[in-house]
Amino acid sequence: MLGQMQDWKLRLHHVIDHAAHEHGSREIVSRWADGHETRSDWTGVRHDAMRLRNALARLGLALGDRVATLAMNHLHHLTSFYGVTGAGLILHTINPRLFEDQLAYIVNHAEDRVLFYDTMFASLVEKLRPACPTIEHYICYDNGEFDALLDAESGDGEWADGDENDPCHLCYTSGTTGHPKGVLYTHRSNMLHALSALQPSLLALEPRSTLLPVVPLFHAAAWGLPWSCAAAGAKMVYSAVNEPAVICELMQRERVTHLAGVPTVWLGMFQHLDESGTDLPHLEEAVVGGSAMPRVMIERLMKAGVRVKHAWGMTETSPIGTCGCEPANWDDLSFEEQVDVKVLQGRVPFGVEIRCVDLDDPSKELPRDGKTAGALQVRGPWVVKRYFKAEEDAVGADQWFDTGDVGIIGEDGTLKLTDRTKDVIKSGGEWISSVELENAAVAHPELAEAAAIGIAHPKWGERPILIAVRAKASEVTEEEIIAFLADKVAKWWLPDAVKFVDSLPHGGTGKVSKKALREQFANG
Ligand code: ADP
Repeated sequence: MLGQMQDWKLRLHHVIDHAAHEHGSREIVSRWADGHETRSDWTGVRHDAMRLRNALARLGLALGDRVATLAMNHLHHLTSFYGVTGAGLILHTINPRLFEDQLAYIVNHAEDRVLFYDTMFASLVEKLRPACPTIEHYICYDNGEFDALLDAESGDGEWADGDENDPCHLCYTSGTTGHPKGVLYTHRSNMLHALSALQPSLLALEPRSTLLPVVPLFHAAAWGLPWSCAAAGAKMVYSAVNEPAVICELMQRERVTHLAGVPTVWLGMFQHLDESGTDLPHLEEAVVGGSAMPRVMIERLMKAGVRVKHAWGMTETSPIGTCGCEPANWDDLSFEEQVDVKVLQGRVPFGVEIRCVDLDDPSKELPRDGKTAGALQVRGPWVVKRYFKAEEDAVGADQWFDTGDVGIIGEDGTLKLTDRTKDVIKSGGEWISSVELENAAVAHPELAEAAAIGIAHPKWGERPILIAVRAKASEVTEEEIIAFLADKVAKWWLPDAVKFVDSLPHGGTGKVSKKALREQFANG
C-alpha cells in the first residue's frame, strides 16, 4: 500500500519556479571579469534558464547528456545551473585550476557534448580542443555568444519531467591519488541538501538575506548555494574576479549579509579593510569551509559581530557534512570559550550521520569522547554511493562512506578534524596529527609554509619530519624551529628533522601534495 499524498517530485525546476513566482524581484547582481555590472532577478534567471533549455534542445542534446562549464561566478553560470538541469541534462562544472591532463581526462570521462566557458579561459580551451573529441559546441559566456544563443529562443516551454533520482549535476574531486573521480548528484539529493542548508544552524537564509559566494561555482558542487538561495528567495551578488577590493566594495554597496568562501579569502579581505580603513557593516554570517578556519580569523569576525559558520564537507557530501552552530550553553561561555567552539568543525544537521572508526580496524566504532581520533565516516541522502562510471559502490552494504579524513567526535557530537588518513603519522603505535604539527610550526613568524610527513623508522615505525619554507630574508635554523615547538606539542611529536625548501609542491586545488613530498624525502 502507498500513502496518499501528492506526487510532487523533488526536481530542481521547482526551486527556480518558486524563486521566480514568490521572490521574483529579488536581485541577482553580477560583476563581470571586464568590470561591467549587470542586474537581473529571479524572474530574469528563470526566463533565461527556460531559453537555455530551449536552446539546448535545438542543439540536439538528449536527456542525461553532459553540458560542461569552465567559468567563474556570474549570471550566465548561475542560469546554466537551472537551464541545464531543467532540460533534463547534467551540468558538469569543471575546476579550471586542475592540471591540463586532468581537465582533458574528466571532459572525456564525462563525455561532455557542450562546453560553456569564459574568455579568460579561452587559451586553455584552445589547448584542450584537440584532446576533447566529444565536445561538439564551444560557447563563450562573455563575448556575446551565450547571449545570442538565448536571444534566438522564447522563454516559453516546459521543464523536462522525470524521476527525482535522475542525475542533474556532476563534479569531480581533485584526485590527489589516481584520476579525478566524478560525483553524480541527483535532483533529489540536491533538493534535500538545499532545504537543509536554509536552517538557522547552517546557512540561515531567508528572503531578506543577500549572499555573495566567493566560493567558485565549480568548487565542491558550489556548496549548493544556487539552489538554497533561490529556495529562500535571497538576493545574490556574483563577482567573476576574487580581488579583495572588489569583493569588499560589492559587499558594502549591495549590503551583503552572507559571505561564503574558503578561509584564505579572509586573509586578503582583512588586509584590504585595514589598508582602506573600511568595514563590512551589513555582514551577519560568514560561512567558511574547505580547510580549517584559523583561530585569529574567527576571533576577528566574531569581534565584528559576525556569526561564524565553520563547516566541514567534501564534494562527495554535496558538500555540507557538519557546521559549527552555537551549542545550548553558548550564552554562558566566555568569548575565549566561544572561539574554542568555533574552531571546531561543528555538528551534523538532520540528514547526515557521522562516526569515527579505528584507523587500524575499521570494524571497531570509536567512542564519542572528545579525545579518540579515528577514520571519519559519513552517510545520508546527499552522500555519494558510487563514483560516476565506477563498477563498484564506494560504500559497503551499511552505506558508510569513508571520508579519508581523521577526526575526533565530542560527547555532544561536535567534530574536530585532525588530519587526512593518508597523512597521519604513526610513531611507536601512537598517532601524530600532521596538521597540528604544521599549524604549530607556521605560528613561527619566520616560516612561510610547512608540511609534516612521516618517514620510515626502524624502531618507531614512522617518525615525523618537517619540510618548511622560510619567510622572505629569514635564516631561521632547524634548532630554532624545534626549540619553538618544544612547549607547543608533546615531546614525542617533535620532528626528527626540519628540512628547508624554496617552495612546497601544490596540487590542482592549491593543497600541498604530501605524496610528492613523501616520494622526495622517503630515502632520507
Ligand atoms: P578538493 O580536494 O578538490 O578541494 P573537496 O573540496 O571535496 O575536494 O575537499 C574536501 C576535503 O577538504 C575534506 O575531506 C577535508 O579534508 C577538507 N576540509 C573541508 N572542510 C574542512 C574544514 N572545515 N576543516 C578542515 N578541513 C576541511
